[in-house]
Amino acid sequence: MGRKFVVGGNWKMNGDKNQINEIVNNLKKGPLDPNVEVVIGVPAIYLAYVKSIVPDTIGVAAQNCWKVPKGAFTGEISPAMIKDVGADWVILGHSERRTIFGEKDDLVAQKVAHAIESGLKVIACIGETLDEREAGKTEEVVFRQTKALLPAIGSNWDKVVLAYECVWAIGTGKSATPQQVQDVHASLRNWLSTNVSADVAAKVRIQYGGSVTGATAKELAACPDTDGFIVGAASLKPEFVDIVNATQ
Ligand code: PGA
Repeated sequence: MGRKFVVGGNWKMNGDKNQINEIVNNLKKGPLDPNVEVVIGVPAIYLAYVKSIVPDTIGVAAQNCWKVPKGAFTGEISPAMIKDVGADWVILGHSERRTIFGEKDDLVAQKVAHAIESGLKVIACIGETLDEREAGKTEEVVFRQTKALLPAIGSNWDKVVLAYECVWAIGTGKSATPQQVQDVHASLRNWLSTNVSADVAAKVRIQYGGSVTGATAKELAACPDTDGFIVGAASLKPEFVDIVNATQ
């Protein structure tokens, strides 16, 4: 299919300069599979610092941004600012943004639209809660969240990676099984084929996120419709290298 494996680290609100130096030194030591795209999602305040110490082969992502270029939005950062400090990705719609900060589908879509139009690449996160899964609503939720993004993405699917992160697996140590991941990714691709195009469905990269570790990455990476991971806790640890190299 020619979909390049893409592994994102999502540091969340973790790290200080000392820890960042350790993480980056570990990435430099690698060795990282050159066939894998690596993107690290760092706290906004460290974007410029990380960009100044990380090799150019590693992408740097913000974990959020606002939906307009500038103005009276105290505390927010714009895609233009992210680009200005040399980063070229943003993670949007993460479940922590959706649940803790109340971001709804339409706001996520507005952010995605503005990020793309500003020249950023986007990791767009979707995924169901435990209640939704237990109520048999996984597909309904994931399709609804993806549908909300369609006008925002338009014809720019090459700028977007979809991250399927089941909320119940995030930070819980309880990863989805390879079969659960494969089932959702395959039905999402099928949905994209019907609702966008067969070409987009075949080409878009779909990451899995939720308690991925060095120990589980290989079998999860073997799912035919999984094109990478988004990694929280383990992206702060040396095992992130093993996750990057999971397809070797
Ligand atoms: P986790 O987080 O790997 O710590 O479960 C994943 C994420 O939230 O992106």
